[in-house]
Amino acid sequence: MQWDVIVIGGGPSGLTVAAELAGAGARTLVLERRTAGVQSRAGTLLPRVLELFDARGIADRFIEKTREIAPYPFRPTHIWAGFHPIEWKHLETRFGFTLGLPQNLTEEILWEWATECGAVIERGAEFRDIREDADGLEIDVMFGDGTIGTRRARYLVGADGGRSAVRKRIDLPFDGHAGTFRGIVVDAFLEAPWPSGRINVDNEMGWVRGYTFGKGVTRFNIVHRERRHAPRDEPVTLDEVLQCIRDVHGTDYGITSYRWASRFDDQMRAVPTLRRGRVFLVGESARIHYPSSGVGMNFCLQDAFNLGWKLANVVKGVADEATLDTYDAERMPVMRRLLDSVRAQCALQFNFSPEAVALKRRMQAEFIPLTDVQRKLVLELCGLEIPYPSDAGSHPLVGYCCPDVDLMLLDGKSVALTETLRQRHFILLDLEGFGRQFETLDVRGLPVTVLQARVARIPAALEGVKGLLVRPDGYVAWASDNTVKAGEVVEQLGKWLRR
Ligand SMILES: Cc1cc2nc3c(=O)[nH]c(=O)nc-3n(C[C@H](O)[C@H](O)[C@H](O)COP(=O)(O)OP(=O)(O)OC[C@H]3O[C@@H](n4cnc5c(N)ncnc54)[C@H](O)[C@@H]3O)c2cc1C
Repeated sequence: MQWDVIVIGGGPSGLTVAAELAGAGARTLVLERRTAGVQSRAGTLLPRVLELFDARGIADRFIEKTREIAPYPFRPTHIWAGFHPIEWKHLETRFGFTLGLPQNLTEEILWEWATECGAVIERGAEFRDIREDADGLEIDVMFGDGTIGTRRARYLVGADGGRSAVRKRIDLPFDGHAGTFRGIVVDAFLEAPWPSGRINVDNEMGWVRGYTFGKGVTRFNIVHRERRHAPRDEPVTLDEVLQCIRDVHGTDYGITSYRWASRFDDQMRAVPTLRRGRVFLVGESARIHYPSSGVGMNFCLQDAFNLGWKLANVVKGVADEATLDTYDAERMPVMRRLLDSVRAQCALQFNFSPEAVALKRRMQAEFIPLTDVQRKLVLELCGLEIPYPSDAGSHPLVGYCCPDVDLMLLDGKSVALTETLRQRHFILLDLEGFGRQFETLDVRGLPVTVLQARVARIPAALEGVKGLLVRPDGYVAWASDNTVKAGEVVEQLGKWLRR
């Protein structure tokens, strides 16, 4: 059997792209090497990703799961370079909060979702090699018992993490720098329950952040002025953890033991392109970096949401191959910007000289609270600072995420824009009653839904907009402030879809 797409790696990126592909009708197989879970690295889901999950009807699953850990799961603030609070109220979204959910629980939900969408997942299946022929790709897989088998697909997605075998196999460079300092992550047990909330301490001795990370478990992230030069493979000991936290914070919070401790570093590397022929990379297979401000996985998931619907439309024959080039064109600039942000955050956060500490204190007290700074940082944390590229002369909204407005439909029902995206269709919105123009459009067989609606409360960005085309991932493909002509809409749809 030939699959439409094989995804290598069943981590957050692989499961999400697989769900997006299978949910849109592509025959999708995931090959995952692991047979058992691992400790969680990530612990945050941020507003933009929650909007995307809402656009597929599953945001509530993450909220409910987080409630099992934190009875009130909505954290209204976040951090940036260790500064706090960065307030989500400055972002226009209904998901103005961070969810503190350990990565293994996020992956459980994604696994279930990918399976419901129709993806087939094989565990204990390790990608080994790939060959291209006239009909597609042949992939060698090693199974848990050491036997080798083959699987065939038209396209391959490498979502196999920072050490990606797929990336190596297609010879993509992974340039950057080795780690220059190390931090410690510890999932600890304490003598007494963790006082509610989070601690964040930054001074001449180092930086410590602590927060609840599951029932009875407290996570500490530590960068200690001297211990940051410890070798990466030196085992973390309980004594080291206690001493580091005491040095920075003056107390060790009564840590008695831990279930997991590890060193992580600021190694940074990235590929020059996300595609080679029939092979795509998503998530950490394409870049690695210091986990500044807990955003890494959130950016990986946005890659997956960008690629999934495009690749599905191509394999279903409703989009041209050229659509696939937009994945690299759109996500590479976002990735470069992310890496730049990480560099800047590391330079600030992990400089413990008296001068740097003085600068940080001033920034914390005088600059971080400024509304304009906050507005900028919430966009940066969500990867929404820059638009995707658009044609010259496009409406200024094109390439940006569409604000998640409430729509009043003709039948009097009101619906959130994100809810209208749940079929993974383009949404063509007639906001000024040009219905007859839109009615003549023939979108049969295409993933397009045409809606006539009023925006309930019009945000500044949508002021004066009469027609709007929103992509399945919530980005604006086209907008018009003028009387909409059917021919114009046909031309715009033709950029993304064909019969
Ligand atoms: C200490 C730390 C804290 C972090 N905290 C946060 C946070 O709070 N928020 C955040 O957003 N991000 C955070 N991150 C980053 C986050 O963990 C990663 O961005 C995320 O795991 C990347 O997901 P991925 O699916 O791309 O790769 P991975 O999670 O690495 O998944 C890759 C998958 O591929 C499988 N695989 C590998 N090779 C093969 C093969 N040859 N064949 C088959 N399968 C294979 C692996 O078993 C794995 O399941 C943190 C990272 C660290 C180190």
